[in-house]
Amino acid sequence: MNTYASFYQRSIHERDAFWAEQAELIDWQVKPTQICDYSKPPFAHWFVDGTTNLCHNAVDRHVKDRADQAALIYVSTETGQEVTYSFAQLHDEVQRMAAILQSLGVKQGDRVLIYLPMIAEAAFAMLACVRIGAIHSVVFGGFASHSLATRIDDATPVLVISADAGSRGGKVVPYKPLLDEAITLSQHKPKAVLMVDRGLTPFTSVPGRDHDYAGLREQHMNAQVPCVWLDAAHPSYTLYTSGTTGKPKGVQRDTAGYTVALAASMQHIFEGQAGQVYFSTSDIGWVVGHSYIIYGPLIAGMATLMYEGLPTRPHGGVWWELVEKYKVTHMFSAPTAVRVLKKQDPALLSKYDISSLKALYLAGEPLDEPTAQWIAEGLGKPIIDNYWQTETGWPILTVANGVQTMASKFGSPGVPMYGFNVKLLDDNSGEELTGAQEKGVVVIEGPLPPGCLQTLWGDDERFVKTYWQSVPGKLVYSTFDWGVRDEDGYFYILGRTDDVINVAGHRLGTREIEESISSHPNVAEVAVVGVADALKGQAAMAFVVAKDASALVDSAARLKLEGEIMKLVDSQLGAVARPSRVLFLSLLPKTRSGKLLRRAIQAVCENRDPGDLTTIDDPTPLHQIKEQLA
Ligand code: ATP
Ligand code: MG
Repeated sequence: MNTYASFYQRSIHERDAFWAEQAELIDWQVKPTQICDYSKPPFAHWFVDGTTNLCHNAVDRHVKDRADQAALIYVSTETGQEVTYSFAQLHDEVQRMAAILQSLGVKQGDRVLIYLPMIAEAAFAMLACVRIGAIHSVVFGGFASHSLATRIDDATPVLVISADAGSRGGKVVPYKPLLDEAITLSQHKPKAVLMVDRGLTPFTSVPGRDHDYAGLREQHMNAQVPCVWLDAAHPSYTLYTSGTTGKPKGVQRDTAGYTVALAASMQHIFEGQAGQVYFSTSDIGWVVGHSYIIYGPLIAGMATLMYEGLPTRPHGGVWWELVEKYKVTHMFSAPTAVRVLKKQDPALLSKYDISSLKALYLAGEPLDEPTAQWIAEGLGKPIIDNYWQTETGWPILTVANGVQTMASKFGSPGVPMYGFNVKLLDDNSGEELTGAQEKGVVVIEGPLPPGCLQTLWGDDERFVKTYWQSVPGKLVYSTFDWGVRDEDGYFYILGRTDDVINVAGHRLGTREIEESISSHPNVAEVAVVGVADALKGQAAMAFVVAKDASALVDSAARLKLEGEIMKLVDSQLGAVARPSRVLFLSLLPKTRSGKLLRRAIQAVCENRDPGDLTTIDDPTPLHQIKEQLA
């Protein structure tokens, strides 16, 4: 029997043999004979002499066996559009898009920046790029002109693909004026702009530069653009990290390693099979959208459901209604989205027939136990946490039920995935921690497995400097997350390395204090941040969003709730962990991908400039903090 333990050990100790087997999961034009070249660490070159194509593996190879099966199910509760594309239809649309790209001068190796809302054309565009070896760089549609301009300058695209507008909560959000402004701001000027006109809002075109997608599509209805066989290391795309901790980094991914890694993850981690339906609620602007809206499910021959809209509109059960309607088998979301649902009537979780659903996967931020319990009980389905990063492209820690049925533990994303040689390092001595319950920095011994970043776009030096450090005899990649391992080898992520606070010499993880505070019945969300304190070095401050705002009507009520929260922390963790203050906010400052912006809160509290806030979703809470501290 293949146990996960032996599977994992083989991935580390018989690395090349292991990945040569995984390589069988995809189609190659030329099969690789050399699996991993790690002669120039930390740069890993996977499947060195193989040639393949990501689009071929996601689309073309399925046309033979399942031309008429659903490939892309597009649902917008914003526009009411609902379309299913079969593999044959997706194949046609991608070829039309590829022909359009070529007609606009896009060649192999050129960058194409995709600045689109969640529309089917975004999927066509990504697939068309990798089909012809153009390198896509999807920029999340919620970013405004300044963020977009810096990304245009970093990626230097020949073409930008955009649309008139997105829509959020029924409100039209124009894109074109932001794009025009970004191109004015940027040093680099893309030669062409391809516009998808959704008819949501009028826009002005720049003659000679801007082109209309619908018109060009008509001209290329019968386009046949074959996949270009690419070297294994040919970059498939670049994608910027969320920017939670600072300037976003342009993660660069290869072609073959990524294709193999996703194919393997669909089998061993997600247990996805051709004909099933995968619904990831992420956005194509994030890594989850790349790996598990577009490429992973399609590589597995599954249909992928691409959704534009809110989880609460037209009603709080819309996701489950879609699960029923399309017989969704796999769902992928983020804890932050579940917390939004938590504010809705729990009866909505059982209103629809979700019997097709096998599991809900969650990633992106710590999954607190109350949230996990709530959704697990409400749905009656397994909830599978998985921990990874934009940089890695697929999960570092989770459970691999496709290899062996594994228990999940609340609070833990799971165990190291095959290929990831995960270690914990003492962050003072830099020494490896091997015992249970020892807290350290989560690092990965090189080489990183297939699918992870090759480098940072155009900046090998920053890649090496940012992520890699030498420990005796080897190079390790730092995740910049802090973790601990239990007796069974399950990891717990305690927060980012810069989230550790030092109160009068006691090192505390903000996550532990947050867990404690969130067990208070009137706490919907909480952030704990270490703030400079003359006396103690640092003091913990808590920022709370209350479930029931009526508990905050006057200062007496607020003081009462603050007192209750402090008492709770005292009793659970001890007085050293007690926050020096609890402030109440209407929402927490987060990135557009739902990640808490601790460094910005900290800066505001310490009266410093919060720095680059281009990825912030809504700055209101930062103003609220300022007011309350004043
Ligand atoms: P930047 O690197 O630009 O600051 P970011 O780290 O927020 O941005 P991502 O790559 O999207 O950008 O996020 C990865 C990080 O998210 C991880 O390093 C970790 O801190 C957190 N994370 C992801 N999944 C989980 C999880 N399941 N549990 C706990 N934390 C998680
Ligand atoms: Mg990061």
